[in-house]
Amino acid sequence: MAKDFDPHRLDVRRFAEDGAELAASDSLQSFRRLAAETQQPGDAAPVQWRARGELLNPRHVHPEVWVHLEAETVLPLVCQRCLNPVDVPVNVDRSFRFVSDEATAAAEDDASEEDLLAVSRSFDLVELVEDELLMELPVAPRHEVCPEAVKMSAADPDFEAAEAEREHPFAVLGRLKTGK
Ligand SMILES: [Zn+2]
Repeated sequence: MAKDFDPHRLDVRRFAEDGAELAASDSLQSFRRLAAETQQPGDAAPVQWRARGELLNPRHVHPEVWVHLEAETVLPLVCQRCLNPVDVPVNVDRSFRFVSDEATAAAEDDASEEDLLAVSRSFDLVELVEDELLMELPVAPRHEVCPEAVKMSAADPDFEAAEAEREHPFAVLGRLKTGK
């Protein structure tokens, strides 16, 4: 299916005319700008993405050229509250209408609800995937509930009582050290 479409040099109009689809699972490291924002991208989940072309109003003199894009991955980031690693799922689900050139895209952009791009015979779809994922990057990534740190505020009696009920902090620490 769609072997003749190169996601890095996509003929957008033909892609839409064919109602073609492209999908891939690319390593996070292959998205260099995105990888630069993450921790150890080499161990990260791949970026799964899928694009579908569509021609709307095909009988019209100027049919509309659309590309629908979905992408998802899990980004290894640093929690801004506890500074431990946090995996943040991100996903993109957007549709783009391609117009004849950049000037038209700029002129119509304010009046259009959809995202406009200039049509091209060698459009870099993978770069668009990266652009969109970068926009989804959280400014301050956080755990919903941060993992409990081993606290040392033993002077607090409430804290001690709570710890005694559960488990001594040094027992936890010992397990962490031995890796059990
Ligand atoms: Zn956290």
